[in-house]
Amino acid sequence: MGNAVLQKAPDPEEFLETHAFCKEKYMLLTRFLDAVKKIGRLHQWHIQAVIHGVGESHTVEALLQRAGEEKNRIKAALLSHIEAHGC
Ligand SMILES: [Zn+2]
Repeated sequence: MGNAVLQKAPDPEEFLETHAFCKEKYMLLTRFLDAVKKIGRLHQWHIQAVIHGVGESHTVEALLQRAGEEKNRIKAALLSHIEAHGC
């Protein structure tokens, strides 16, 4: 009985547009999402570098570390904004 509705994973950008009402929070969430995406790309690159032994793995590791620090900074700014603004 009933139609089995296939649950599509929500698109994060679409989710942001419909759920983030505070402009600054939206901006911070967008930056956070970009930082997370960047880390995902670097992980892919890292895997390829290791698999193919192209000797780029140290460069990628340094970039991953920097990208991780950037993501944490944005996350901290986002959390303190939410706390201060109550949004
Ligand atoms: Zn806010």
